[in-house]
Amino acid sequence: MSVPAVPDAILDRIKAIVGPGGYLEEAVDLAPYVCELRGRFHGRTPLLARPKSAEDVAAIVTICAENRIPIVPQGGNTGLMGGAIPHEDGAELLLSLARLNQVRAVDPANDTLTVEAGCVLADVQAVAAAADRLFPLSLAAEGSCQIGGNISTNAGGINVLRYGNARELVLGLEVVLPDGRLWDGLRELRKDNTGYDLKQLFIGGEGTLGVITAAVLRLFPRPRDVQTAFVAVGDVAAACDLLAGLRRRSGGRVDAFELISAATLELVLRHIPGCIDPLAGQHPWYVLAALSTSAEGETLRPALEDTLARAHDSGGIRDAVIAESMAQARDLWRLRESIPEAERYDGASIKHDVAVPISRIVEFMSRAEAAVRTELPGVRPVAFGHLGDGNIHFNLGLPPGLAVEAFRAREERLNRIVHDIAAELDGSISAEHGLGRIKRKSIRRYKPAVEIELMRRVKRALDPDGIMNPGKLI
Ligand code: FAD
Ligand code: ZN
Repeated sequence: MSVPAVPDAILDRIKAIVGPGGYLEEAVDLAPYVCELRGRFHGRTPLLARPKSAEDVAAIVTICAENRIPIVPQGGNTGLMGGAIPHEDGAELLLSLARLNQVRAVDPANDTLTVEAGCVLADVQAVAAAADRLFPLSLAAEGSCQIGGNISTNAGGINVLRYGNARELVLGLEVVLPDGRLWDGLRELRKDNTGYDLKQLFIGGEGTLGVITAAVLRLFPRPRDVQTAFVAVGDVAAACDLLAGLRRRSGGRVDAFELISAATLELVLRHIPGCIDPLAGQHPWYVLAALSTSAEGETLRPALEDTLARAHDSGGIRDAVIAESMAQARDLWRLRESIPEAERYDGASIKHDVAVPISRIVEFMSRAEAAVRTELPGVRPVAFGHLGDGNIHFNLGLPPGLAVEAFRAREERLNRIVHDIAAELDGSISAEHGLGRIKRKSIRRYKPAVEIELMRRVKRALDPDGIMNPGKLI
C-alpha cells in the first residue's frame, strides 16, 4: 500500500514548514519510529515531521486541524503502551519533538528549569546538576525518553517516593492546542489559585489533548550524601516494615525503595553479563533502598545501619550490604535497572503495572500469585517494582513447554485476573505506564462511568474533531 492517505499537497506544506532535514518519509528511515520497543505495534505514516520550534509545531497542527489530519506526537518512543505509534492505516502524521531540545532558562534562585519538550531526560538531569540542583525524575529509559514524553505519560520511576511523579515536578507548560493555537502556560509559580489548573489535563494526557512544546520544571537541592543498600527479606511484609522503619529513622528521606523477587533477580543474573548477586545464599525477596541528604556535612549512614541492625535482630531482614562507593551503588542499581532487558532476553512475558495502597501490597501479592498459578500452572511470576509507591510490575513469564501463541491466548484472561484483584484492593491497573492503545478499552471496566464520561467531554471540548492521537487513552 503505497498510496498515502494524506494528500501530497498537504504533506508538501508541512515539509515546507520544517525545511529539508526536518522530515523523514522513506520507509527505511521511518522504520524505527513506527515500531514500538517491544515490537507489539508496527504502524505506518506518510511523514515524520521534526519541527525545531513551537511556532513550527503550531503551524503544522493548524494545517492538520484545517484538513482533519490526525497527529501522533512522539518523544523518545520508549513508552510501553503503544501510545506514540501511528495506526496501521497510514493516515496519521507522526510529529517528533526530538529537535525541539533547547534549554530556555535555568533559574537557581527560583529552583526552576525551563526546557523544550524534546530534551532527553538524562540531559535535563545534567543541566540541573550543573546548576548544583537535582531534577529527581529518573527511570531506566532516561538516556532516550524525552521530557515531553515523561510529562505526557506522567512518568514515575525510582524517586517518586520522595519527589512525586512527573505531575508533581511541573509548574508550567507550553502547549500547541488541537486547533493550532499556542498556549503559553509557562508559569514559574508554586502558588497560583486562579481557577482550573489546565496544565494538569495535558500531564498524563498521552498526547490526546495537545502537543507539549516546553515545560517549567521544579528543581531541588542536590544530594550531598547518598546511601544505598541491597537487603534480603523473608517476605513482602518484612519489606514494608523496613520501608516504614527507614522513613521514620531518616525523617522521610528515602528516595527509592525497590522490591525485587528471587525469580526476578535470577533472571537478571542469568541474562545480564557482569551482574552478580552481592549477597550469599538464596532469599525470597530483595529490596534496593536509597536514602539521601542535601545537608552539608551530614550522612544518613548511621540511620541506615541502625535500622538494618534492628530489623536484623528482630528477624525482619536476613542479610544486607551497604554500598561503600559510587561504583558499588551503581552495580546495585544495575541489578534493578537491567530487569526490563533481562525480561526481553527471557522471551514472552505478560506485563502488569498495578498500584495498590502500600497497606494492601502483601494481600495483593499473595492473592495475585495464587490466582495466576491456578489459572495457568507453571506460569512464572516476575514481580518487582516501586514498593514505596505501592506500584508493582507483576509480570508473568512463559511457562516452560508452553508455546508463545498459547500463552498470548491466555493474556486477556490473566490481565483480567490481576487487574480485578488490584481493583478489589482499591488499586489502579496502570500505575505509571498509562493507557495508550493497550489498556484503553480495559480501563472502562475499572473507572467509574461518570469519570469516563467526563474524560470524553474534556476530550470533545479541546479536540472536537478528534485529531490528537486518536484511538489512544480514551
Ligand atoms: P513516547 O514513548 O515517545 O510517547 C509516550 C506518549 O506520550 C505517547 O502517547 C505520545 O503520543 C505522547 N507524547 C510524547 N511526547 C509528547 C509531547 N511532547 N506532547 C504530547 N504528547 C507527547 N515509565 C515510568 O513511568 N516509570 C519507569 O520506571 C519506566 N521505566 C521504563 C524502563 C524502560 C527500560 C523503558 C523502555 C520504559 C520505561 N518507562 C517507564 C516507560 C517510558 O519510558 C516512559 O513512559 C517515558 O515517560 C516515555 O517518554 P518518551 O519520550 O519515550 O515518550
Ligand atoms: Zn516502573
